[in-house]
Amino acid sequence: MFDALEEFMATMNSEKLKIAKAVEARQERFWKISHAIWSYAELGFEEVKSSTLLANTLEEAGFKVERGVAWMPTAFGATWSQGTGKPVIGFLGEYDALPMLSQKGGSPIKEPVVPGAPGHGCSHNTMCTMQALAVISLKEIMQEKGLNGTLKVFGSPAEELLASRPYMVRAGLFKDVDVVLDCHGDSTFKVAYGMEGTAMYSFIVAFQGKTSHAGSFPWMGRSAVDAVELMHAGTERMREHLPVTQRTHWVTTEGGETPNVIPDRASTWYYVRDLDENVESNFRWVLDCAQGAALMTQTTYELKVIAAVHQRFGNKALAELVFNNIQAVGKVEYTEEEEAYAKALQKEAGFPVEGMDYPMQLTSPDTEPLRGGSSDVGDVTLVAPTVSMRFPVRVPGSPSHHWTVVSTGVTSIAHKGITAGAKVAAFSAFDLLTTPEGLAKIRAEFEELARKRPYKTFLPEGAHPPLQVYSRLMERYRGAMEKFYLQPL
Ligand SMILES: [Zn+2]
Repeated sequence: MFDALEEFMATMNSEKLKIAKAVEARQERFWKISHAIWSYAELGFEEVKSSTLLANTLEEAGFKVERGVAWMPTAFGATWSQGTGKPVIGFLGEYDALPMLSQKGGSPIKEPVVPGAPGHGCSHNTMCTMQALAVISLKEIMQEKGLNGTLKVFGSPAEELLASRPYMVRAGLFKDVDVVLDCHGDSTFKVAYGMEGTAMYSFIVAFQGKTSHAGSFPWMGRSAVDAVELMHAGTERMREHLPVTQRTHWVTTEGGETPNVIPDRASTWYYVRDLDENVESNFRWVLDCAQGAALMTQTTYELKVIAAVHQRFGNKALAELVFNNIQAVGKVEYTEEEEAYAKALQKEAGFPVEGMDYPMQLTSPDTEPLRGGSSDVGDVTLVAPTVSMRFPVRVPGSPSHHWTVVSTGVTSIAHKGITAGAKVAAFSAFDLLTTPEGLAKIRAEFEELARKRPYKTFLPEGAHPPLQVYSRLMERYRGAMEKFYLQPL
């Protein structure tokens, strides 16, 4: 004899079994979509093919797609609604690649497909793909059951530039969204709540000087490279006096062409990271260093802000709900070949040779130290209750932005991770659609956070998405990469 709770649980489990089957029934198509996006390896705001493929796939499945949302041509929103349309569940999905990480798929040694070209070193080929698999499968069950609700996928470009979500928030895209499920490919199966990562300003300072013959007429020139070097020297000293939570780093993006022409142009790209409460003053101090360098060298400078994002604040009640579903889906099983590939890769890369052994965890600031990385999902966590589920598509030991992640991105290890992740995302959304008291608890926790940390963008007034940052770099490699494109069907 079932009591009411057991009966309810049994019904839930049989529904979830159906969702799992719906995911498995279409998984192979989505593995291929992931392969195609992996092979396009398009950098931030250059994801024309990747975003089109994902938007078309959702459109064909009955979602209403709006392309080019929030002033970004490669961003999209895909919505499907039934009945009252409430609650509204948002899904974030990324698809941008990284410079310099071209790598052959499934190879346990470092060998680029096109030397110097971009590659998917952060598993983003699997992420919007996984969310699309989840929502399309869940839609089938919602239709069968006549469930009320709205599923909304936010196709999010340029995460590696941290440049899309603050503009999506600014465009009001999350206004009616009750809860957001974010995701990231990883070598674990986990979810976190509480304060995560660092807030960040990303910006380019371009100095303008005067050219001249460096040997014959140096007094007629003013070196923009000197200005960049002095700015770096200044911020190097500044770093010593910042809170221990800061991370400040830079690369010179323009640094002259030849020693005998005094360079009239030089640029440096900074990331300034810290807690939400410190990051603005650190940013202003770096600008003081730029101004000081310009004064010392009699040059001028221009500032271009690429991105400005908050820390992440994951919702605990939502994380617990997602973690229950991670446990329900359970650990992925691997074949001997997969274990052998994982160990060969680990050996080659100098990681501990432990095979596909990874943890399933619910983490918080009490269990994990604050990490230095940043994500533009931070802004979303302050306007809607949000968590990021990490799903296993990498070999344990592989750090983000590494050739080993690119290698694994098209293997059966990644396939299994996409399927497992999609099940967790769809199960979690199903729980949110069918248990109003669970959603109410999540919302109440969020209202408390919103009271404590009312959202205010870090973006300067009048900032625009930096759509051209990677245009030239992408153009340089796209032709050579085309020969190796994988077909999505
Ligand atoms: Zn990433």
